[in-house]
Amino acid sequence: MRQSNMLIPTLREVPKEAEIASHQLLLKAGYIRKLASGVYNFLPLGKKVMRKLESIIREEMDRAGAQEIQMPSLQPAELWQTSGRWNTMGLELMRLNDRHERQFALGATHEEVVTSLIRDEINSYKKLPLTLYQIQAKYRDEKRPRFGLLRGREFLMKDAYSFHEDFDSLDVTYDRLFDAYKRIFERCGLNFRAVIADSGAMGGKDTHEFMVLSDVGEDTIAYSDTSDYAANVEMAPVVTQYKTPQGEKKSLEKVETPNAKTMQEVADYLGHTLQEGMKAIMFKVDERLVLVVTRGDHEVNDIKVKNLLNADIVELATENETINAVGAGFGSLGPINVPEEVDVIADNAVQSLINATCGANENGYHYKNVTPERDFAVNQYADIRFIEEGDPSPDGQGTIQFAKGIEVGHVFKLGSLYADKLGASFLNKEGRAQSYVMGCYGIGVTRTLAAVVEQYHDENGMFWPDSLVPYDVHIINLNAKKEEQVEVSEKVYDQLQAKGYEALYDDRQERAGVKFNDSDLIGITHRITIGKRAHEGYVEYKHRQTGEQQDVHIDELVGFLQ
Ligand code: ATP
Ligand code: MG
Ligand code: MG
Ligand code: MG
Repeated sequence: MRQSNMLIPTLREVPKEAEIASHQLLLKAGYIRKLASGVYNFLPLGKKVMRKLESIIREEMDRAGAQEIQMPSLQPAELWQTSGRWNTMGLELMRLNDRHERQFALGATHEEVVTSLIRDEINSYKKLPLTLYQIQAKYRDEKRPRFGLLRGREFLMKDAYSFHEDFDSLDVTYDRLFDAYKRIFERCGLNFRAVIADSGAMGGKDTHEFMVLSDVGEDTIAYSDTSDYAANVEMAPVVTQYKTPQGEKKSLEKVETPNAKTMQEVADYLGHTLQEGMKAIMFKVDERLVLVVTRGDHEVNDIKVKNLLNADIVELATENETINAVGAGFGSLGPINVPEEVDVIADNAVQSLINATCGANENGYHYKNVTPERDFAVNQYADIRFIEEGDPSPDGQGTIQFAKGIEVGHVFKLGSLYADKLGASFLNKEGRAQSYVMGCYGIGVTRTLAAVVEQYHDENGMFWPDSLVPYDVHIINLNAKKEEQVEVSEKVYDQLQAKGYEALYDDRQERAGVKFNDSDLIGITHRITIGKRAHEGYVEYKHRQTGEQQDVHIDELVGFLQ
């Protein structure tokens, strides 16, 4: 492409609103332009990189056996009301009315739509497992849209959904897509880690986030310096040490259970009212179960307890475990009986509540005037704190380090939550109706593009991994007024294109300094400058990232570039 005809509006100044490198450089180099807060135009260079990224994603999703579809962004409110997310999504869900005053949402994600589609189109196990995906704009009215493409209000997502007869089948697909995600981010040249994540309000089972390591990331990762262990600190064990009355220290293991209940359900079950912000989570120590209770709105270690303690979820023992029921017994939840085999521990955040209700000693962990038979039981000591740098890794290997991460992908074993809510069932091998077991898998396409820029730039601009670079070569004619240089430039341009290179050709009537600046900003890996030695048939080659520079004869150029 001739640059003189192209829409590449580079800027000299860093736009005021841009705080981080990817935002600044994508604007400066003319890849994107803002339309409104969190809403961007993609100009030719930005669109080109995005298409390359999309192709990588499509190739790997297809290879993993997923089928591409496209679902609508405009979604009837009824679907979201049925799933319950019309309320729980709150202000983040973009809503609108049609001319008949019917309510709609703009798709923030597509579990509801895809589940209703499959409910209506499939009725037998014979079609399972099935994985569908799409690459499409998503809408979320983020509280703080910022950092350019990292947190937009309209952004491109690859979202996939899988449908299964049982968890065994889901596990197979999950692993396959997990590997596909690893390949996608590797092909993007990213330094990333897959981390254990928080199944949060969606009430699922296993879940992992793919985190690009970067100081501008909004998430914190706790990882082992010697093993593969890595977790979002939201999920790293909150109770690192558990002290028995004998003073023995034990580590805690989170109880995995597919039949998680919401705090509300537990409260209803126990016949108590729920204190807003109350959270609880079950852990296992040896073969005993421990219920950790905290308040969700209390900040400790700069991290919201709400995030740390699996907000809204109380995990109950599975049927075949020894516990019948446990519940939180603090605050307005009121006194409850906790079975003898369950230990209840609480952190400082709930201490005030406990004090108000029952009284506690100074260190907050042992409640003397509480009778287990009468009130809730706090029959063990615990030292509750969040995982910290330097702690032993929960997998027993190495020491915990912290790093900042950008969440570029998220895979999730949903279970039957959406299928149950939306009445999506199929006939199993025995001819009985059964809810689908589902998985969902997201990649922030536009966010990934920005994450690449965060890892690939220097003080002069960006550069790109080969897989995403918008053009193969940047040809620069230093002086568009010198006939000889124009002639050689045109020749090089034709020659490289004939050999299948995609070339961006700076044929503009601009000063050399302007052309070099723009070229560094735009960041095409191979730069070929036609200048003073054009009459001898020599051009200057420069590698954007390494700065490696040398004169090459035009007859040897193609061989040199290979
Ligand atoms: P975050 O924690 O950053 O708000 P999320 O957990 O809400 O993200 P998911 O629902 O898991 O996001 O969506 C799948 C993927 O979509 C995310 O992993 C992320 O890469 C991308 N994504 C989510 N929100 C945005 C946004 N506002 N702008 C750009 N990409 C986003
Ligand atoms: Mg979000
Ligand atoms: Mg997240
Ligand atoms: Mg997520």
